[in-house]
Amino acid sequence: MIITAIKPYAVWVGIRNQLLVKVETDEGIFGWGESGLSGREKAVVGAIEHYREWLIGKNPFDIGMIWQALYRSQYFEGGRVLQAAISAIDIALHDIKGKALGVPVYELLGGKQRDRIPTFATTSAEPGPEMIEQAKMLIAAGWNCMRLSPSGHGSSEIYEPREHIGTTAKWMVKAREELGEDVVLGIDYHHRLSVAEAASFCQKMPSGTLDFLEEPIRDETPEAYESLRTLTDIPFAIGEEFASKWQFLPYIERGIHQFNRIDVCNVGGLTESMKIAGWSEAHYVDLMPHNPLGPICTAATVHFAAAVANFSWLETRASPAEAHILGFDNSDFFPVQPRLENACYPVSDAPGLGVEVNEDLVQQQSFKFWQAPMLRRRDGSVTNW
Ligand SMILES: [Mg+2]
Repeated sequence: MIITAIKPYAVWVGIRNQLLVKVETDEGIFGWGESGLSGREKAVVGAIEHYREWLIGKNPFDIGMIWQALYRSQYFEGGRVLQAAISAIDIALHDIKGKALGVPVYELLGGKQRDRIPTFATTSAEPGPEMIEQAKMLIAAGWNCMRLSPSGHGSSEIYEPREHIGTTAKWMVKAREELGEDVVLGIDYHHRLSVAEAASFCQKMPSGTLDFLEEPIRDETPEAYESLRTLTDIPFAIGEEFASKWQFLPYIERGIHQFNRIDVCNVGGLTESMKIAGWSEAHYVDLMPHNPLGPICTAATVHFAAAVANFSWLETRASPAEAHILGFDNSDFFPVQPRLENACYPVSDAPGLGVEVNEDLVQQQSFKFWQAPMLRRRDGSVTNW
């Protein structure tokens, strides 16, 4: 079997652009992958087009060799754009191999270690009574792990971190009081704080209020996270932007974080994810994968989650707490896809990823330019989105 075509589709699907990648073979078997560099899809399409020239004619079963060749056979290796391209290709090759062998992708990763994949959900209301009501609704619907909302994160122009810390901390404490000790509570700060601001936030809550703090600060400097580590006892959940095992290296080896927010569509696909999973297992770091994209990402991550030992929860954006903003029905685009059952994703036993894509409909869509908010502080300076 050889690869005969690689087709990237960066198209608007309901609520956002998705970068879907189809890899075709001479035997009629094809695979689908997805890239996760949201907002910069066109750059990734360009990288895929470069890779396509070498990939056509190669054996799609040689997944490990292809990963190494795409990474190492260039002088300027790695980075988020190239790794997002490699991720989609790697996932599509696993889909092809599973279909060709008649086995689900988890069988290619060592076999299934769990039958269903627990998820965590995210509240969408600003901190306040409605946020707590959403959390109670999620508990009633079967979730025992969730991310609560930080104040001000819907801002599109001005974001002043200190104006939101007190309110957010106060409502985290109220949420813990009302929701009880058993539910797992976290918050995603979307790397909007400095070390000092993150410390102020953490220190405004009694120990035990939150079970995880996601991305309080930017991740370029592990030493900054180590500094914050000395100022709070809340476990950290980080890594969704990481684009290789080497970016995880200092965090895992220095014991900085406790949950890996690994993103299979950015980190280098399933091949790279399995290496990071094993490395994390040795350091007792749990996997809490990032999953904000479409059904290809979800399906690939479900197979990954099924095949690793050190798994906690998979992110889902399909909960009732986000239905009013994200509740686009994509069944026409993806007639077969993972669907939640009681806050868990069942593990598909279909060959490959177990997702069907309506390519005709995908081809009818176009790319829509989207730019993340360019947030400013009140003094006019630029701050993190
Ligand atoms: Mg996050």
